[in-house]
Amino acid sequence: MRFITYNAKNFRKIEYIRYLPETIKRDIEIVAKVIPFKTNNYVVDYLIDWDNYENDPIYILNFPNRDMLLPEQFEQVKRGIDQKLPENELYRIINRIRMELNPHPAQQMTNIPELNGEKLNGVQHKYRDIVLFFPTQGQSCHAHCTFCFRWPQFTKELDLQFSMREIDKVIDYIRKNEYVHELLFTGGDPMIMSPATLKNYIQRILDAKLPNLESIRFGTKSLSYWPFTFLPIFNQEAGEMLDMFKQISDAGIHLSIMAHFNHHVELDNEVVQEAIMNIRASGAQIRTQAPLLNHINNSSKVWAEMWKMQVNLGLVPYYMFIERETGPYKYFQVSLSEAYKVYTDAVRQTGSLAKTVTGPVMSAAKGKVQVLGIIENPLDGKKQFMMQYVRHRDYNQTFRPFYMEFNETATWVDQLKPLIANS
Ligand code: SF4
Repeated sequence: MRFITYNAKNFRKIEYIRYLPETIKRDIEIVAKVIPFKTNNYVVDYLIDWDNYENDPIYILNFPNRDMLLPEQFEQVKRGIDQKLPENELYRIINRIRMELNPHPAQQMTNIPELNGEKLNGVQHKYRDIVLFFPTQGQSCHAHCTFCFRWPQFTKELDLQFSMREIDKVIDYIRKNEYVHELLFTGGDPMIMSPATLKNYIQRILDAKLPNLESIRFGTKSLSYWPFTFLPIFNQEAGEMLDMFKQISDAGIHLSIMAHFNHHVELDNEVVQEAIMNIRASGAQIRTQAPLLNHINNSSKVWAEMWKMQVNLGLVPYYMFIERETGPYKYFQVSLSEAYKVYTDAVRQTGSLAKTVTGPVMSAAKGKVQVLGIIENPLDGKKQFMMQYVRHRDYNQTFRPFYMEFNETATWVDQLKPLIANS
């Protein structure tokens, strides 16, 4: 197990972990061999209700439990540990289970572009206007989510990491592709980098004065897992980070923090709220996104409350995703029909400013598929899904509604049959 003790004040409850029942700690140890686990004292101290930890959404989001593996997978790892197998034999078992958990859903390791005949192994270019950059120093997070769709990035043994640090190649690539208007720093969490490291990247981008680059985004969960990143009062580097944000905005480039919040409890303390105010004061916009997850936020009430709080704090709700089929997804998955109901019920409960959110959306191989509705076919009275690509590799294919056969239990678009009417 790995606990990071950051140098934050008000360190109060980390002791609670020591008092978890031995059986629970043992389960965590076993499951964490397969699913990368990392926490920190902000998550433990501020976000988890330890009086009710077994049902607490942030505990489940951050701490692995035995139900996240199939019983036979759990037993195989447990047996290997009990028998004190040599490390290489144990890791053979662990890695086999990891491969059963579909480490690269929706062809995640594809869409890798080339520059002058060289593959950019740390860049993805799927949609025509945006490039994703995976900086080497940003491929971890302040804590790890148990459902993480990029969990292989955190497993050294499988050598599945995908990242690079040659920003000049990324700049050249953007310059040569006139339709690219946005650059997304992603990970892991790019906000885990020090401001000095990040600034090395940003300064080169600003100096390049790319005429087609209009926006920079940072995909991050730092506001939830380590908001001290943006609090100069706790941390001198936070001031440098905020200055860099301002520098980006002052250069005429829109800066969007793509903040990952799974539950309203992550917004409900003075630390995160002050961090949000500081980011907004730097000129950056904060947009929010998260997947719908059983055991964590499978409730329209939770989403409505979260979006209301976000709007009140000046954030822009952006995406509600369907959990991807990777890692312990069987534990977290929600059917498409249920997701559609949660989304519509939640949006109905919010004011109009929260209706900026698009959902429920699947990040599928060809693009982002939104469930637009469940309707009855007027000819035969049978239910069907109405969907559309809100993003598609071929941008001409976006925003064209199509129909799929209804299936009450389906959890992903590839489990559905297309209807003839599409052709
Ligand atoms: S913050 Fe994002 S990348 Fe990091 S563990 Fe959570 S889901 Fe994965």
